[in-house]
Formats: sequence, structure tokens, C-alpha cells
Amino acid sequence: MSDLNPLIWPHSVTRVKGEINIGGCSVTSIAAKFGTPIFILDESDLKSRATIWQKSLQETFQEHAGDVFYAAKAFVSVEVAKMIKELGLNIDVCTGGELAVVAAANFPGERIEMHGNNKSETEIAQALDYGVATIVVDSLQEIERVSRLAGLQGKNQQIVIRLNPGVEAHTHEYITTAIEDVKFGFSIASGAAWSAVTEIAKSPNLRLVGVHSHIGSQIFSSEAFDATAVKLLEFLKRYKDENRVELPELIIGGGFGIAYVESDQPISPGNLLRQIHKVVLTNCERLGLSIARFSIEPGRAIIGPAMVTLYKVGTTKEIKLKDGATRLYVAVDGGMSDNIRTSLYDADYTAVLANRDSIATKRDCRIVGKHCESGDVIINSILLPSDVEPGDLIAVAATGAYGRSMASNYNHVPRPGVIAVQSGMARTIIRSETTSDLLALDIAEGAKPIGERS
Ligand SMILES: *Cc1c(COP(=O)(O)O)cnc(C)c1O
Repeated sequence: MSDLNPLIWPHSVTRVKGEINIGGCSVTSIAAKFGTPIFILDESDLKSRATIWQKSLQETFQEHAGDVFYAAKAFVSVEVAKMIKELGLNIDVCTGGELAVVAAANFPGERIEMHGNNKSETEIAQALDYGVATIVVDSLQEIERVSRLAGLQGKNQQIVIRLNPGVEAHTHEYITTAIEDVKFGFSIASGAAWSAVTEIAKSPNLRLVGVHSHIGSQIFSSEAFDATAVKLLEFLKRYKDENRVELPELIIGGGFGIAYVESDQPISPGNLLRQIHKVVLTNCERLGLSIARFSIEPGRAIIGPAMVTLYKVGTTKEIKLKDGATRLYVAVDGGMSDNIRTSLYDADYTAVLANRDSIATKRDCRIVGKHCESGDVIINSILLPSDVEPGDLIAVAATGAYGRSMASNYNHVPRPGVIAVQSGMARTIIRSETTSDLLALDIAEGAKPIGERS
């Protein structure tokens, strides 16, 4: 099993007679029935990760445990929203589109939080209509908009304010900075955060309950979260001093890292939350605060490892490199339209030859897509059996987060569907697009004066 590291691949993945099985379904049967490329969701893997985050938060923070908000932007469909709902987690959405998906799953409004740095008035009104528990506000204009729209509906809307604590986190390091050159949040250091609080206090339609921060993604240790918690608690202390009441909610965001390749070593949810809990406890005591209700928003850490992408190899091409070495380009039937992360973030992935065992020696390969773009790369460098050939299936691990959700129709390539597998059963949860889906958006008619466009 050495090529299927359980820290990277979904729990149910095995090799049976040389062939990869996921959720008890063989990849050749999946390819035959659903076509390629296709995203395969290991349903029990997703559920167990969601449950682990929920349990770890409750066990570490106990009576101060708030909510686990699954970050829908990582990946959401109606079926996945239903799974999250049934597991008892909350959900966060950033747009009217994401809200529409979770609404189609009948997700209870009192378990939804709405983010976004530029929510339209329509989106705000939709969130209010649906009765979302919390709107996280991110600009002064938005405070005015939510206040006015809530007033029109005769509502007193619960809100949380997104703060920029001046902590910028990456996988292995973080920096604290007074200069916060990003679009998200109200800067604490510049005083913007305090002005926002003052503005909120003027509105009879808004009820501020806490502070929020989200500092980065694919973070592997607790230090950046610890530093963020301290900044947020110090802000809560100022609030307490000036208002003589405390805000009860502290939301530390998502960004918890996962293993894409062998060298990635993420911290476990339990260890991470224990460490943050210690910091929260110590600092609440130091600042004379009651302990806030502590919530988190994992997206990638729940859905990322639960999905793989299955592709079919179309062509292979050997390229001579400058140093005399060679590289095999393995082109698959998808690419940057279903996985933009490699070209966008220089992300790493791992993959295996999925439909058969091979005893051929391994060689350096580059897995590329079918798009008209030389940056259309899925994996820059990976060892695959040298006899990989057209018709073979390639499975790429840990594509659940920011894969299908960031997919595009570049080159008019239909976006792949998603199937959920469990106990030998496979079902479609998002169907694959067809060229008819793409053509359905084309409106062929004569040009009209600009004022008359529909
Ligand atoms: C993106 C995002 C998340 C989830 O991030 P992951 O890296 O997927 O865990 C959580 N909260 C907010 C506000 C976000 O923007």
C-alpha cells in the first residue's frame, strides 16, 4: 500500500487486484459508468472528518465550545449540505449562490453564517429573508446596508465583525504586521475596527455579538492562530472596558492544513485546538475576560482529503531536457478547468496509476491537461510507472477543496461531475456538464442598441 499514504488518500481507498477501489467501487467501473474526468467523494471519509472537528472542538473547549462552520466555498452541493446538516455542523456561505445551494438542502437558517467582503444588497436581503443567524460584516458601507435592510424587514440582525489582526499565515510560518494590505476585515491596528464598532452601536437594527478573523490557508501549526486569538481577545477587552459588557463570540476562521504530498505534516484537530484553548484560557485570565464561545470554520480540512479526481490518459510524450535527462508528459482529459490550484498557487498533488499495478520502473512524469495553455499542469513532477499509456486511469488525491468549486469552462470544456461512493454504491451528486449545458447559455441573435439589451 506504500503508494496510498492514508494521510493523503481517503480512508476507504485500497488496491484490489491491482486496481484502486474507493468506497468499495473500482475505478474502472466508475470510469465506465460515469465517464472521466470525475470527482469521487468518499462519503464516510467526509463524515468522519466533519465529526472529528466537531468532537475535538467540544472536547477541548467544553462549555466554551461554539460552532463548527463548514466553509461551503471549499466545495458544496445540495447533497453535501444535507450531510453537513445531518452531522449537526453549521455552515458558512459567502454569496447568494452558496446560500441558494444550502437553502435547497433546507439548511436551518439559525445554523448559517454569511461572509463576503462585497455582498450585494440582493444577497444581504436574501440572507435576511432566509433568517441566517449571523452576518459577518466587512465594511462601513455594509454596516449601513445590513442595518437599513434589516430595518425594512423589522429585524434586529445578529452580526459579527471581521477583524484584520495583522497576522498573515502560510503553511510553515506567519508574520505579524501593522500594515495590512488586504481587502478583508477591519484593521485593528489602524483603528478601523473600533470605528466600525462605534458605527454598529448607532444602529437599532444590528446586534453585535462577537469578532471574527480568517488569516490564511493551508496552515500547519497553531502559532498563527494563537497570535490571532490574542489580538482578538485584546480587542474584546477594549470593548469590555468601554461598554461594560462583553461580546460572547470569538470565531477564528479556517485555514487548517491538509496533506497533499508526503512532506506535508498537518497538526491534528485535537492537538491544534488544545493548543489554541490554552492560549485563549491564559489570555482571558490575563485580560479579565469571561471565556468567549469559540468557533471555527474549516473547509479544506473537512472536504479536501475526502475526494479524488479520476482522469483518463490521452497522450504521452517524451521530452529531452537540457541536462540530457528526459521527462514524460502525461496528458489527461481534464486539467486547469477542474484543478486550477497548481497554476494558481503552485500547489502540489500526488497521483497514482489507478486501473492496474505495474512493475515497470518509475520515471519522472509531468501530468498535464488538455487546455491551450502551457501552464495547464496538474502535477509538475511525479514518479509514475514508465509504461503508463493512453487509456490508463490516473487518480489525483486530495482534490475535494477548491477543485470542483473553482472549476471553469475554459476552452469550452464541460466541468466534471461529482459522485459519492460508499459501501460499493456510487451515486451522482453533481452531474457532469455536457456541451448542451454550455450551448444553453449562448444567445444567438442580431446586435441591438446597448439600451435594449436583455
Ligand atoms: C476560505 C475561508 C474559510 C475556509 O478556509 P479553509 O482553508 O478551506 O479551511 C473559512 N472562513 C473564511 C472566512 C474563509 O474565507
